[in-house]
Amino acid sequence: MADGILTVGEDVLARLAVAGPRYTSYPTAPDWSDDFGHDDARAAYERAAHDPELPLSLYVHLPFCTRLCLYCGCTVEINGRQDRADRYLDAVEREVALATEALGERRRVVQMHWGGGTPTFLSVKQLRRLHGFLSDAFELDPTGEQSIEVDPHVTSAEQVAALCDLGITRVSMGVQDFDPAVQKAVRREQTEDETFALVENCRKGGVTGINVDLMYGLPEQTEAGFGRTLERIVALRPDRLAAFGYAHVPWMKPAQKALEKYRMPSASERTRLFALALAKLGAAGYAVVGLDHFALETDPMIAALRSGTLHRNFMGYATRPAPDMVGFGMSAIGDVAGTFIQNARDTKTYEAVLAEGRLPATRGLDRSPEDELRRATILSLMCRMRVDLDELEAETGHSDLATHFATEWKDLEPYAEQGFCELGPRRLDVTHTGRLFLRHMAMVFDAYLRARRAQPPTDGAPRFSKTL
Ligand code: SF4
Repeated sequence: MADGILTVGEDVLARLAVAGPRYTSYPTAPDWSDDFGHDDARAAYERAAHDPELPLSLYVHLPFCTRLCLYCGCTVEINGRQDRADRYLDAVEREVALATEALGERRRVVQMHWGGGTPTFLSVKQLRRLHGFLSDAFELDPTGEQSIEVDPHVTSAEQVAALCDLGITRVSMGVQDFDPAVQKAVRREQTEDETFALVENCRKGGVTGINVDLMYGLPEQTEAGFGRTLERIVALRPDRLAAFGYAHVPWMKPAQKALEKYRMPSASERTRLFALALAKLGAAGYAVVGLDHFALETDPMIAALRSGTLHRNFMGYATRPAPDMVGFGMSAIGDVAGTFIQNARDTKTYEAVLAEGRLPATRGLDRSPEDELRRATILSLMCRMRVDLDELEAETGHSDLATHFATEWKDLEPYAEQGFCELGPRRLDVTHTGRLFLRHMAMVFDAYLRARRAQPPTDGAPRFSKTL
């Protein structure tokens, strides 16, 4: 597969290095409405309450970090004061109370993820407090998954012990690249020893799932340096890996501008770095999952891939044991009863709205039947590597999708000619080479993107990162 990707000509790569969504949701976040708030979020929770037996997933956003990594695309608050987190947790506790009032008490939760930011910015006491009020409000299924993102540079052995004691089963950590030149450029210095020690501690404490995030396309990155990082990481044997392409979006993340003084890999260099990850991880026994994830055969993600239940949400690829996901914390995104709900994206507004006794949702979207159809199509492409119209008709209840998607099918022909997909009258299969161009093919089914292309933005700023 790596060889196939490398045979794509430089001219084609340059032409395809356009701005495009990553499709962690459809419709994508820029198409959600700002005319959305407490009443809309509450209505979605009340709809979800009609089926109290259905399990839930929870996401909690903990935005604090002690340092800003220059490539960061997350919603963070840089803060050196740990007591700041106490006030934030007061607000999260209020949000949990308001949400459960509408959702129903003690709903069963089969998957809970704490992301950030750096969740281990919180002290042991704060971590225990958060887990305490969540497990009072929800029934955390002991056979479910509880996961957390940690920064190896700031996570202590005491925090790891407390997390294991609380029942955390999966730990996810960013590495990006061990190459010192890259780490210096992106201002995230993190030694191999820190990373290895953290993984060892987690495993000793009983954590069964270890995820490592790598990033390609960073400034000063070389195939030699990234290749060495891949070899070191393979030796660590995480269950899951992600190799994300760096998203350079300085109009949204101004700190990224500082990276422009370094040598940035071109589209073709980025492709080579990704091909290197495919080759080395494949040789080490990792299966490719979707666009940019990898997992050992024993990981539940592989079972989800094979059974067709793999899902993609704003955290990337995920197994999907619950249809509704409730998000807590500033900027958190929920997906409840057919509605995307996003909270206020700054802590000040988030805390102020909750202090008034209102849910802090500020953006969102009630998906229409057409949105649901296109979402199912894009999810099938991103997760199953195919669009099968018979399968889609059976799953969505629509009929005559060949006519409905006639324009899209025509627009896919150039991708089929390039060898990125095999295109039959009612079925598209992504080829190995085409895996790198999944976002491009998904864009064909994005009705909002089509409408937007017809009307370019007045501010001239791109809305998405480059696809390559
Ligand atoms: S630790 Fe993570 S969330 Fe915090 S600034 Fe760095 S990349 Fe962003």
